[in-house]
Amino acid sequence: MKLEIKNLSKTYSNGVKALQDVSLTIEKGMFGLLGQNGAGKSTLMRTISTLQDPDSGQINFNDINVLKKPEDLRKVLGYLPQEFGVYPNVTADELLTHIADMKGIVNKGERKDTVEALLQKVNLYDVRDKKLDGYSGGMKQRFGIAQALLGNPELIIVDEPTAGLDPMERNRFYNLLSELGEDAVVILSTHIVEDVSTLCTDMAIIGNGKVMLTGKPNEIEEAMRGKIYEVPIDRNKLTEYQEKYNVISQRFFAGKLMITVLADELPDGKFDTKKPSLEDAYFKILSEN
Ligand code: ADP
Repeated sequence: MKLEIKNLSKTYSNGVKALQDVSLTIEKGMFGLLGQNGAGKSTLMRTISTLQDPDSGQINFNDINVLKKPEDLRKVLGYLPQEFGVYPNVTADELLTHIADMKGIVNKGERKDTVEALLQKVNLYDVRDKKLDGYSGGMKQRFGIAQALLGNPELIIVDEPTAGLDPMERNRFYNLLSELGEDAVVILSTHIVEDVSTLCTDMAIIGNGKVMLTGKPNEIEEAMRGKIYEVPIDRNKLTEYQEKYNVISQRFFAGKLMITVLADELPDGKFDTKKPSLEDAYFKILSEN
């Protein structure tokens, strides 16, 4: 199983270059596409999902030429868009049954079994007869996954799935997502570094429509070892430190401002060496662009 994206470009009519020569090879498992708001993630996800066309480039999934045969891709695609629909005044069971019908699962018995199994899988079986508009954000996202899994997709795309979830809901959702990569190509688009470090075996960082880095999260972290230092400072000293050092990020910690600095060796005795995190690598890339 393999998704190959080659030289994909897209400029919107207002002149925004949302994708600039994007090439990626994505294999079975969970792939994280990390980028800030406006980086081009949704444009890429919508293009792979055949909802919009690029200006140029190619996409192949196994032996499907996606841009030439969008209908073939749709048969093997499960898609959870960034804003998954309106939650109408129907129950989870009713809506999932309806979507299953539209996806071509027309045999009643088979459809009932499929819907039940999926509701069990996403842990919504006990509330299947409750109206969706009464669901919490996490429950709605789990419903979104259930509909994306209808028809056993080989390519699953989830766009910003954890935005807006509280930490408990996010954890529950991670548990569910982590199972998906076992027998499909799963692309998880997100601006949340933790989503990628928790779930993904491979990743890319995208910014201004360009691929800035690809690799395995642990290797990307490892490449930064011995280059990341931190020190707590007074808030009013920040500019001074920024002038003197390559400050890649800052955060409050126990009421002090903790700054993270990129350097080839210990800047001075006040700094501590920090074990690099994926977030440090991400901030480094952002600070360079
Ligand atoms: P992300 O999902 O990473 O936030 P998007 O793909 O939504 O990024 O957007 C990438 C860039 O393209 C942004 O600058 C955005 O404002 C612009 N953009 C997105 N959709 C459209 C559109 N339909 N028309 C014009 N510009 C768009």
